[in-house]
Amino acid sequence: MEIVKLKDLYFKKYISEKEIAQAVKKMAYQIKQDLPKDEVPIFIGILNGCFMFVGDFIREYNGDCEVSFVKLASYEGTETTSKVKKLIGVNEDLTNRTIVILEDVIDTGNTLQEIYEIFKHQPIKALKIATLFFKPDVYKKELHIDYIGKNIEDKFIVGYGLDYDEYGRNLASIYQLTPAPKMKNIVLFGPPGAGKGTQAEVLKEKYDLMHISTGDVFRFNIKNETELGKLAKTYIDRGDLVPDEVTIDMLKAEVEKHTEAKGFIFDGFPRTISQAEALDKFLAEKGERINGMVALEVPQDLLVQRLLERGKTSGRSDDQDESKIRNRFEEYETKTAPLKDYYEKQNNYYGVDGVGSIDEITERLSEVFDKL
Ligand code: AMP
Repeated sequence: MEIVKLKDLYFKKYISEKEIAQAVKKMAYQIKQDLPKDEVPIFIGILNGCFMFVGDFIREYNGDCEVSFVKLASYEGTETTSKVKKLIGVNEDLTNRTIVILEDVIDTGNTLQEIYEIFKHQPIKALKIATLFFKPDVYKKELHIDYIGKNIEDKFIVGYGLDYDEYGRNLASIYQLTPAPKMKNIVLFGPPGAGKGTQAEVLKEKYDLMHISTGDVFRFNIKNETELGKLAKTYIDRGDLVPDEVTIDMLKAEVEKHTEAKGFIFDGFPRTISQAEALDKFLAEKGERINGMVALEVPQDLLVQRLLERGKTSGRSDDQDESKIRNRFEEYETKTAPLKDYYEKQNNYYGVDGVGSIDEITERLSEVFDKL
């Protein structure tokens, strides 16, 4: 998932899970190194945003330690306000202890200053400040920060415990605020013969979208005997999928041909998880995303009938032979069907009953398109 929508705003992937894990590990190691050998520090997390960070940090900290939390809220929406609203303090006896404050992100430093004021009057031994993310461009305080996981740009971030109005805390990566996408991009999904092509022709007019059918592009290239066509033909004739690299490059080239498009209906693409990932990434580079996968659900027996019927007039070699059709279903079940999970995980899968008249099905699809 490269661009996510949380309530009314959009966020694009900014720092991966892996990068976060590396930064956390490095901080835990460094802090352990810097403390006296037998020191048992008290790590104090600043709730709510720090909960994931503290959890991961503690697992990486290789030594005895205590953990506690304080809560101060200084955010309202995406705007940092200078007023701190709530405080839940620590109850432990801090006398002669080494305190390490763990913050998820420090920007202006207002929250941090408040916390610091609380601790500096206590009879503690030492006070250190560690933050996973730091915005050097907006930090206004004199207070020294001892450990920084990663410097970041001054843009609102969510994920890995951080929220936008309580949304997005459960995202495993960090996402950064990004302008709203301009396009409506829909993956029209379903097994061979589900009626994707037929419906796409109607829906592209209705919603003023470009229709890209990878199958059609391949067939066009085969007919014109291009290099791509020659390469794809052997796969298509057998009912196998064309290799991902070939298909992904071709798809990108098709999208690039239509820079003015208001959006795309992708028909027959993606068909594998790696195609779906490539598509997400490619669109995110343009500040765009897949609004939804809309799937036509049709029982397999009906599909075979439909395909054999189509084979009588379509001239498609892969529609005329039942064993090739069966092979296409097998390819679908093993490589393509798992995409349902991929989009479901993004909360972006919409199943539609694909049995009925063309008009009825268009109606059902339109109900979903209108929402996306
Ligand atoms: P279709 O017209 O969508 O049924 O596609 C016909 C054939 O083109 C498929 O059986 C594959 O051999 C090939 N093809 C179309 N789209 C893709 C794709 N996204 N990935 C791999 N092969 C594809």
